Amino acid sequence: MATINSTNYPYSTDFIRAIVEEDNRSGKHDGRVHTRFPPEPNGYLHIGHAKSICLNFGVARQYGGLCNLRFDDTNPCKEEDEYVQSIIEDVRWLGFDWDDRLFYASDYFEQLYQWAVKLIKEGKAYVCDLTADEVRETRGTLTSPGTNSPYRDRPVEENLDLFERMRAGEFSDGSRTLRAKIDMAAANLNLRDPVMYRILHASHHRTGDKWCIYPTYDFTHGQSDSIERITHSLCTLEFENHRPLYDWYIQALGIFPSRQIEFARLNLTYTMMSKRRLLELVKEKHVAGWDDPRMPTICGLRRRGYTPEAVREFCARIGISKVDSTVDVALLEHCLREDLNRRAPRAMGALRPLKVVIDNYPEDQIEELDAINNPEDPSAGARKVPFSRELWIERSDFLEDPPKKYFRLAPGREVRLRYGYFITCVDFKTDPSTGKPVEIRCTYDPATRGGNAPDGRKVKGTIHWVSAARAVPVEVRLYDHLFTKPDPGDVAEGEDYRSNLNPNSLERLTDCYVEPSLRDAAPGERFQFERLGYFCVDPDSTAERLIFNRTVSLVDTWAKIQKKG
Ligand code: ATP
Ligand code: MG
Repeated sequence: MATINSTNYPYSTDFIRAIVEEDNRSGKHDGRVHTRFPPEPNGYLHIGHAKSICLNFGVARQYGGLCNLRFDDTNPCKEEDEYVQSIIEDVRWLGFDWDDRLFYASDYFEQLYQWAVKLIKEGKAYVCDLTADEVRETRGTLTSPGTNSPYRDRPVEENLDLFERMRAGEFSDGSRTLRAKIDMAAANLNLRDPVMYRILHASHHRTGDKWCIYPTYDFTHGQSDSIERITHSLCTLEFENHRPLYDWYIQALGIFPSRQIEFARLNLTYTMMSKRRLLELVKEKHVAGWDDPRMPTICGLRRRGYTPEAVREFCARIGISKVDSTVDVALLEHCLREDLNRRAPRAMGALRPLKVVIDNYPEDQIEELDAINNPEDPSAGARKVPFSRELWIERSDFLEDPPKKYFRLAPGREVRLRYGYFITCVDFKTDPSTGKPVEIRCTYDPATRGGNAPDGRKVKGTIHWVSAARAVPVEVRLYDHLFTKPDPGDVAEGEDYRSNLNPNSLERLTDCYVEPSLRDAAPGERFQFERLGYFCVDPDSTAERLIFNRTVSLVDTWAKIQKKG
């Protein structure tokens, strides 16, 4: 598999849009473009689905067409209404709209049943009494043909009778299937008398107990496309081998000829896209839930602080191709930084606070200093930040014994407090048990208010700070990749992806301070904490206690890769 990196990064040419344009030129569907996004409601959507959503809705939008949202709900055992609701919310959040075209494959069950009857009548389908295992065993292999089912030549009348009784619930699960009568020697295994219906006495999230036979994906998808008169049915590469069957059903039924076109699914480094595995992570409590900010789910990204704009930009940049690839997650983060840099208001906070006392600053004085909200966006204006004798700074901004290139605070050193004054470290106290600094004593130069010295003297370091008198105590959660390896599936024999889970993917800091302007920040609000990254208020925050998720750090690894390349 190719990796999208600095050398092959440029936009991929979009062969799907080329096909659509050619169809429009030739007048194939009178210039009509109609796509659909067809999730199975058996889990939450992830960033891979976002690629498909952006493609389907994007193509429709670009060519003045329509895109439907259709739930592909043919498997009652794994599907739930909770997933339906989450999918609706997530597609909306991404910025797409289907007007009144919300459909369910289960709405077509009666039509599909009638079509199955039609195929039986035409001798193109039969009821087969082989078990699932026997069907598999007689299917043959890639190099050898399959063998015909002994039930293949059942008379039409008998097939009709049995199929009706299958529907009526006379037979047990798995005892019979309806199969298409195509060709047990076909080179494409999907054409070797594929199963169309299976018996399953299970309640469906929408049809309840109305049905005890359910159509397979293959006998549902193309027909649903056809019912909705979908012109371009875009799906991922694993369905390429199913296309001949997709076409066979459409032809045999003589219905609207939707065209299936396959594209490569999205894979991302340091995470996984399989719904089954994501469900395992949730069930086994490796994460706090589907919307855990470490999850690649849309709701996880949202909780983490991602913007829909950043996700859409990412999907545009990775483009569409026919070749499977793995995209560096750094590109996703890069798109996010670009977006947040433009729109996130700046603020100051200390994640691992260290006390600074300014000896020559009046005990009870508090000044309101001017701070710019977003240097990238003058319309964001300015705010006041309180300054006082005692401050919190970042622990890493003081070193007792600094190396050469360290320009922050150290004994005898002068630095600038962002939007504040120059301060000089005159002394510090350490904790006798750990030897670590716990309090820094400084003096300030009152002439440097705003961050410049009238005598023109320079300082090399500028650090952020919060007034201890006015600081708001908060919790901050820092995240790292969920997995330690770019490909979590890369494991030693006898192990599985779980062995690559990153034990340090979540770090909770419970004694942080932020400036008072954030006191009333609402869940979902995003900020750049100066020098620390982008942060977003977690929905679990209460009026008493704010929780911030670090959305992404400021260090742009993607930009670095680009430079090196
Ligand atoms: P399942 O294993 O349950 O089939 P799925 O990821 O294929 O999972 P669907 O709900 O069937 O889930 O997917 C809906 C649509 O999203 C399909 O058209 C599918 O091709 C597309 N899709 C799913 N995963 C990706 C991905 N990683 N990249 C791009 N498109 C995807
Ligand atoms: Mg699928």
